[in-house]
Amino acid sequence: MKPIPPSPVPAGTPLIDSHCHLDTRVWEDDAGVDAVVARAHANGVSHMVAIGSGYGFESANRAHAVASRHAAVLASAGLHPHDAREFTDERLADMLGLRTRGPGIVALGEMGLDYHYDYSPREEQRVAFRAQLAAARELGLPVIIHDRDSGGETLEILDAMAAWETGVLFHCYTGDTAYMEAIVARGGYISIPGIVTFKNGDVMREVAAKTPADRLLIETDSPFLTPVPFRGQKNEPAFVGFVAARVAEVRGTTPEAVAVLAAENTRRFFGF
Ligand SMILES: [Zn+2]
Ligand SMILES: [Zn+2]
Repeated sequence: MKPIPPSPVPAGTPLIDSHCHLDTRVWEDDAGVDAVVARAHANGVSHMVAIGSGYGFESANRAHAVASRHAAVLASAGLHPHDAREFTDERLADMLGLRTRGPGIVALGEMGLDYHYDYSPREEQRVAFRAQLAAARELGLPVIIHDRDSGGETLEILDAMAAWETGVLFHCYTGDTAYMEAIVARGGYISIPGIVTFKNGDVMREVAAKTPADRLLIETDSPFLTPVPFRGQKNEPAFVGFVAARVAEVRGTTPEAVAVLAAENTRRFFGF
């Protein structure tokens, strides 16, 4: 792998990747995951949220295991809409048991609706989504939302389930400015991924420019959506400073300022 150039965010600045997948199914084994965490630290990343969702129900256990080894890694637990066909109440109850073990979990998710890929039938996606929202509400945990082409149905379900009180974060936000404003008006948060660096990322750049400063987070969504100038390489949390830099450009501020405000928002949202 190529050496990573110095981060555009000055060393010592709070810098958090609010969403990455440190699953051994992506990074082969624990040693691979630990190397990714070490490279993130070397590039000034103070904390990262390892998403326990996206690679089946076992993702939650794997994210929790990484958080158990690294104080700088926080874990979530959830079932991705792609995997909704795996959902049962018993498995959800099992997963929620992670709350009281070791470092615990800071949120439920990612969860939601993905009508772009439709890897699971839509009705099964809705059932898994509602059940996780009900659990989050009962336990007072914030939720991380994955929403792709749901045509506003994600918002309807969040409204119907009164999910906003415990905290709602739209990760890898790909909607437009009007949808962002609807989320923010309800008290939600927006996380901007590396798409903001892409040539065709104009809509994302407009959203990144207009999201209120107290609702904006940044993420890599590693191993996907590798930011410029690392296209073609597997994405990892070490690159999150480059997302901060592009967001700073469109907001007319410094990478340091964006890193600081996003880190503050991430801590407030997840409560650490
Ligand atoms: Zn997602
Ligand atoms: Zn993700």
